[in-house]
Amino acid sequence: MQFTRLPHPSPTPAERRAELIADPGFGKIFTDHMVVIDYDEDRGGWQAATIGPREPLTLDPAASVLHYAQEIFEGMKAFAHADGGLALFRPEANARRFSDSARRMAMPELPEETFLAAVREAVAADADWLPPIEGGSIYIRPFMFASEAFLGVRPAKQYKFIVLLSAAGSYFKGGVAPVKIWVAQGYVRAAPGGTGAAKTGGNYAASLVPQAQATQHGCDQVVFLDAVENRWIEELGGMNLFFVRADGSVITPPLTGTILPGITRDSLIQLLREEGLDVREEPYSLDQWRDEAQSGDLLETMACGTAAVVTPVGTVASPEGEFTIGAGGTGQLTTKIRERLVGIQRGTAPDPHGWVTRI
Ligand SMILES: *Cc1c(COP(=O)(O)O)cnc(C)c1O
Repeated sequence: MQFTRLPHPSPTPAERRAELIADPGFGKIFTDHMVVIDYDEDRGGWQAATIGPREPLTLDPAASVLHYAQEIFEGMKAFAHADGGLALFRPEANARRFSDSARRMAMPELPEETFLAAVREAVAADADWLPPIEGGSIYIRPFMFASEAFLGVRPAKQYKFIVLLSAAGSYFKGGVAPVKIWVAQGYVRAAPGGTGAAKTGGNYAASLVPQAQATQHGCDQVVFLDAVENRWIEELGGMNLFFVRADGSVITPPLTGTILPGITRDSLIQLLREEGLDVREEPYSLDQWRDEAQSGDLLETMACGTAAVVTPVGTVASPEGEFTIGAGGTGQLTTKIRERLVGIQRGTAPDPHGWVTRI
């Protein structure tokens, strides 16, 4: 796949860029370029790829994504290694998941090697935007949406695939702090047979009201229970969960189709097993969570995902009251496994699984 380079009329001056990336926060500071690849069923599928200036799109108001939400995305990071080179973490897993999401949403699959080439091309063009600060990264947002102007209900015939980049600081200002979680009341994120395992915007739209409930109750995040029995823990709005028990077992909810198969989740399962822990993918209920936290059988709970890596859950709140996990702080295993994963990603620890790809 060849990427045609479109000239940028006014790239950000180096001095201004340095200001912007000094304290970028998350998801606000965008780089100069983006990759665009159009798809048109009537013109043979995927069209020429370009890398050009990041700029507003022209979109017909009848574009079917605006009406029926045919949209998928990915979230990845590029890290700086000590030699100044950039590295991606398990990008082929994102490419595969993007294809899986596309199939669920009746969208065309982008060849995985094209997805990977587009990510590499975008990062290489804007490598200067990597914040030179502790925990800094380039957050990569590949996404695809239905651009065909058509109001009938069927899969669109035209799509746009885009890779955007954003300068990102450490997700948590002032180090990793335990989060307080609200148990969703009266809302589910995903039901059996639904789109819970696809990385699609609609799942996030559905999570915003319960997330607002969480905020109203002084919590940072919302945890969703299963749609059928309203009893089993599924995941947070955008992070998977692990329950660390005193008997050396670690439980994470199984991938039954209602949970997003996180790449951080998959990596943690492997790393925890290497630590000699008995990791089980099995259902874990809210009652068990509360009882085991109170009895001391549960030591830690961690939430994980690309944006925040590994985060301790300190407190869980619902209308029935609150409970605290361990001492409400950051547990030993959470700290250890987070450091192992971050070390692999940033090239300061060995990478026995070949998870890191240099750009
Ligand atoms: C992206 C996402 C995750 C985390 O996946 P990672 O691959 O680890 O970043 C978890 N849950 C939901 C709902 C997500 O969208």
